[in-house]
Amino acid sequence: MSKLALYGGTPIIREKDAKLFHWPIVNDAMRKAQLDVLESGNMSGTDISRKFEEEFAKWNGVKYALSHNTGTNSLLSAMYGVGLGPGDELICPSVTYWASCTAALSLGAAVVFCDICEKDLQIDPESFEAHITPRTKAVMVVHYMACPADMDKIMAIARKHNIKVIEDVSHAQGGHYKGKLLGTFGDAAGMSLMSGKSFAIGEGGMMLTNDDEVYRRAVRFGHYDRIPTAFKKEEYASTNIVPFGGQKFRMHQISSAMGLEQLKKYDAEIAEIDKAMKYFWKGIEDVKGLRMIYPEDPGSDKSGWYASRFGYEPEAFSGVSNAAFAKALNAEVNGEFSSGCNFPLHHSEVFYTTDIFGHGKPTAALNLPEGTDVRALTGTLPVADKISSRLLGEPWFKHYEPTKIDLYIEAVHKVAENHQELLAEEKEESTLGNIALTHRRK
Ligand SMILES: *Cc1c(COP(=O)(O)O)cnc(C)c1O
Repeated sequence: MSKLALYGGTPIIREKDAKLFHWPIVNDAMRKAQLDVLESGNMSGTDISRKFEEEFAKWNGVKYALSHNTGTNSLLSAMYGVGLGPGDELICPSVTYWASCTAALSLGAAVVFCDICEKDLQIDPESFEAHITPRTKAVMVVHYMACPADMDKIMAIARKHNIKVIEDVSHAQGGHYKGKLLGTFGDAAGMSLMSGKSFAIGEGGMMLTNDDEVYRRAVRFGHYDRIPTAFKKEEYASTNIVPFGGQKFRMHQISSAMGLEQLKKYDAEIAEIDKAMKYFWKGIEDVKGLRMIYPEDPGSDKSGWYASRFGYEPEAFSGVSNAAFAKALNAEVNGEFSSGCNFPLHHSEVFYTTDIFGHGKPTAALNLPEGTDVRALTGTLPVADKISSRLLGEPWFKHYEPTKIDLYIEAVHKVAENHQELLAEEKEESTLGNIALTHRRK
């Protein structure tokens, strides 16, 4: 008789406590704030959003926070803001969600992918530097799966080569690198605030910058109603507040009303998540072949542990795949584990051969010198290619409840001890595919 629940053994958890994982945590103040917007009909105004921006900027200690309808668009604003345009190259780590870089194509720029570090899943500074060409305008630094990137090294390389730095903070709102908040290192930052993320307010995004020109360009691109306050009349009179991007990026005020309330409790909530996740890790740190991914510097952290992964060495488990291991764990505890990460973007043809706009040639090559091969510029990225088979997604505990977390710890030990039973499992695809990592309500 098998011990593992996957093959008929007794599972550790039959009825899962959904509250342990439910997110975001909605309180009465949020309910009231949203209803007020709804009942006043003030969904498309900007008064609440401006207040939210003011508080968000204060929280981050930056001059400007500019709210957006999506994180994707906050990143597009940041790209246009720093001047990314035709003939430029944007360097981006290959392993991230597509929104970190894809909009660069619509600005006439090309994306050149670099590798990540296996130890922390962040952009590899050496690989970043190796991918710089005379056309490199900017680098997209993604604080991936809640860990901070190595900002000391990134900033030094970027300054040396006169490259703009944009941070994608979608996975790490409120996180720190050596005591400083993420999103405040570069020339601009963009981040998602959609429901699945750690700072979750519905659909929404935020751009941060300390730079007047970046802010003004972002306003010009997709915030027509801000143009009269960001520009002098003679600066915009000839276009009559038509936004250059032809875009409207305004945030829905039900989101900003929720954001104002979320700000009041967010730091406390992620502190509890941090405590719960570290308790979980304390319980499984003796399992050989599993590795917690957490920054070493005492001033750095994993903020809300969004989409957190841990390292998985198949060699330590007789070659059992991470997908099979996750499947066995999920059978024990009724879900919450996963395997893999976002698929490596450097294999997507969108960045090489796709003719998106009908120019009769690949969009990526449109403004580059004749014969430039973006795929060759990207080269081979060994960590990006293999990392998906070496990661496990861990349960995202929102509350510090040791007796409940103990059951998940027990499950990890049980599957690790009985992993030989999994040798018959088929190898499974373990990438997350093209979808955002969203919270699934069960
Ligand atoms: C979610 C996400 C985005 C896009 O944000 P949306 O709010 O979904 O538009 C961008 N970058 C990363 C890394 C993300 O995970």
